[in-house]
Amino acid sequence: CGVFGVIGVNDAANFVALGLHALQHRGQEAGGIVSYESESGFNSARRFGYVRDNFTKASLMETLPGSLSIGHVRYSTSGSKGATQIRDVQPFFGEFSVGGVAIAHNGNITNAEALRRELIERGSIFQSSSDSECIIHLMARSLQRTIPERMKDALRRVEGAFSVVAMTRTKLIGVRDPLGVRPLVLGKVGDGYALSSETCALDIIGAEFIREIEPGEMVVITGKGIESFHPFERKKSRFCIFEQVYFSRPDSILGGRSVYETRRQIGIELAKEAPVEADLVCPVPDSGTPAAIGYSFESGIPYGMGIIRNQYMGRTFIEPTEQIRNMGVRLKLNVNRALIEGKRVILVDDSVVRGTTSLKIKQMILDAGAKEVHFRIASPPTAWPCFYGVDTPERSKLLAATMSEDEMRDHLGVDSLRFISLDGLYRAAGEAEGRKASSPQFCDACFSGEYPVEPADMIERGFEL
Ligand code: 5GP
Ligand code: SF4
Ligand code: MG
Repeated sequence: CGVFGVIGVNDAANFVALGLHALQHRGQEAGGIVSYESESGFNSARRFGYVRDNFTKASLMETLPGSLSIGHVRYSTSGSKGATQIRDVQPFFGEFSVGGVAIAHNGNITNAEALRRELIERGSIFQSSSDSECIIHLMARSLQRTIPERMKDALRRVEGAFSVVAMTRTKLIGVRDPLGVRPLVLGKVGDGYALSSETCALDIIGAEFIREIEPGEMVVITGKGIESFHPFERKKSRFCIFEQVYFSRPDSILGGRSVYETRRQIGIELAKEAPVEADLVCPVPDSGTPAAIGYSFESGIPYGMGIIRNQYMGRTFIEPTEQIRNMGVRLKLNVNRALIEGKRVILVDDSVVRGTTSLKIKQMILDAGAKEVHFRIASPPTAWPCFYGVDTPERSKLLAATMSEDEMRDHLGVDSLRFISLDGLYRAAGEAEGRKASSPQFCDACFSGEYPVEPADMIERGFEL
């Protein structure tokens, strides 16, 4: 998901709509915006579909007045069952004796089921099926006198990954979980401030990037300035390495590094680790593009757009059902036959999950007359599900959970298949010495099976580490 908030600018909701539009790649199912203005109080709008199809209409934006606003774009993860319902669309809102609060959450709470059971037993009435709603109910039960203090209370009980943007009548609040699994950045816009999942959404509103919110940090922003707190026990940060590979936009800056450059470096590492003789390096658009550019640069093999993407389709993987996903690939990608025919082609993609995309693309490329097909993948084999906010299927559906690299190659029917090593990925992400077993500095659980936060709910449901 993507979260965004601004304080201290006129018609803040318009800024939020723009910010969410720039974060649309983080979630395309639905979006929501809440704003506050003294006369009409809190106002909210939640809609299915793209930001640009909803939050551009004057008639809707007029209902969201005020100089303080937050928003959310949703992509549902493994915890949620079936298609998104409008009641699951954030921001969520709660009204307490100490005032109202709206919250938008990116990440996944790993003890949400246990918390929900406990809260329901004690009388909470849940409105949605979302793990994020726990935060509101925990806040409602806190005895603290201010919203930020209640939020600290609530978030100390929550486990897992959370980047939260929240607002009260007068405050914009941002929090990251102690490991800082999901991103969250702070920017300055005019006389006000903005919080965003990624820096690319600061650019779109002309905001200046100030800094990242630190893992375990809470910032409370008012007309008077910014206060910073560290409400949690300090831990070693474990930022999601898959944000670097796929999830974030290439024009964003993560941890002081350009995502585009990290991805290009992945391609360079891949070319060193897994060279092959061929005529053409071709990205699987768009997520494989920077790595393909790096691979071509390092290997000296020409780069070409052998697959053309229809600009009007979303990311396939994010459509929730298998059937839609299966249709998605054909609707989205087509082969540039004139370029492919008779060539030995290296295809660069970001990841292999179920293997559905790779199988289809291989077939398209062979049908177009390619002589050989070599897959090079910009992440290590995805052998474990993510429980921290990226949608991966259960373990048995992950190709790499049941097959070796050679078996996957045979299954996909390609001439060769190689994944970047975990060490190579760390080097590309700026860790010159690779992944040191003593101190991995990213979360890489979907590749290594080493979960930095125990997925309590999943273990209770029988998941084995
Ligand atoms: P597969 O077809 O192997 O199941 O999925 C891999 C494809 O899904 C890749 O092309 C990748 O770009 C895309 N993808 C979209 N969203 C995600 C995600 O959340 N996780 C992973 N691993 N891949 C994703
Ligand atoms: Fe990111 Fe993978 Fe960790 Fe999930 S398991 S947070 S996708 S690195
Ligand atoms: Mg892809």
